[in-house]
Amino acid sequence: MTVSPAGDITDARGRPLHDLRISVTDRCNFRCVYCMPKEIFGRDFAFRERSELLSFEEIERLARVSVSLGVTKLRLTGGEPLLRRGITELVQKLAQLRTPEGAPVDLAMTTNGSALPKMAQSLKDAGLNRVTISLDSLDDAKFKAINDVNFPVSRVLEAIEVAQEVGLGPVKINTVVKRGVNDDEILTLAEHFRGTGTILRFIEYMDVGTTNGWKLDEVLPSAELVSMINERWDLEPVTKTEPGETANRWRYVDGAGEIGVISSVTNAFCGNCSRARVSAEGQLYTCLFAGSGYDLRKLMRDGISDEDLAKALTGHWRKRDDNYSELRAALTPGNRKRIEMSYIGG
Ligand code: SAM
Ligand code: SF4
Ligand code: SF4
Repeated sequence: MTVSPAGDITDARGRPLHDLRISVTDRCNFRCVYCMPKEIFGRDFAFRERSELLSFEEIERLARVSVSLGVTKLRLTGGEPLLRRGITELVQKLAQLRTPEGAPVDLAMTTNGSALPKMAQSLKDAGLNRVTISLDSLDDAKFKAINDVNFPVSRVLEAIEVAQEVGLGPVKINTVVKRGVNDDEILTLAEHFRGTGTILRFIEYMDVGTTNGWKLDEVLPSAELVSMINERWDLEPVTKTEPGETANRWRYVDGAGEIGVISSVTNAFCGNCSRARVSAEGQLYTCLFAGSGYDLRKLMRDGISDEDLAKALTGHWRKRDDNYSELRAALTPGNRKRIEMSYIGG
């Protein structure tokens, strides 16, 4: 089969496939209350067995075929991606991939940062381009209450510094804002990261999965957040440079850098969503809020050729019609099964 030129595949709403997010493990050493609450993800929780996870060869193959179909960005996530044994080897394999035009892919990772101080340099050497580090609070007690495993905030701050130092930047920092939990820290966070070369991104708390007991009144609309920061330091909008970019970007007028806001709840961006997600066990999800996936592991373990894998991916993407966030308000809460965030990694 002649593989389509980059960007050629579009879904039922005309959206291309450009980004692939690969979850490499469903396990995590944190129990963030909004993602893997301990009551559900406790001692008895049945995580996937090693044999159920895609192997590095399978991940590389899937990524290679996706890149041949127009994917230019790969993001490793989880669970906590740094918990997957040998992750640096996988990074090395993925960093070799080239688009049909011969360009390297943009290879990034989203991590809680806990293992980053000791791994950052080897990840950089293996070819990782950038990291996004999650951090919801600068207050040690509050941060520990959010991650629910007593992990100190100082170690995540150290991870951010090390990542910047070794060149895994500009480091983006993901802050999920939950009203009544950390909305009182917005200015403190903005102040802390202004002028450091990192990009703080505030994410509206989302109703991903069904275990976090999400309620709409816990969402702080990004517009409120931006006006709060703008009252303290003048902001101006930055034009999006990349199609499919989910964050709305704002720059400090005084030159101290920029912030982003991801308004998945109050200002849906399904119209230009070019992302596919693969869970650790190889299910393809075409939406963060999907209830079921498409079993790519089975196809690969049954011996599908690269050519047929490309056809299967293309056929599946062409049928894609997802726009959950645009419909959210009209859907009755609780009436849908949804995949958990820790399976597909955000
Ligand atoms: N463990 C890694 C980490 O925390 O960065 C990667 C996986 S984590 C699921 C990816 C991102 O999803 C994190 O930035 C996390 O804060 C975000 N996230 C998890 N649950 C969320 C929710 N309900 N709403 C918004 N963002 C969420
Ligand atoms: Fe783990 Fe990331 Fe989920 Fe927190 S947000 S529990 S660090 S997967
Ligand atoms: Fe993409 Fe689904 Fe999110 Fe819409 S709701 S932006 S289609 S992942």
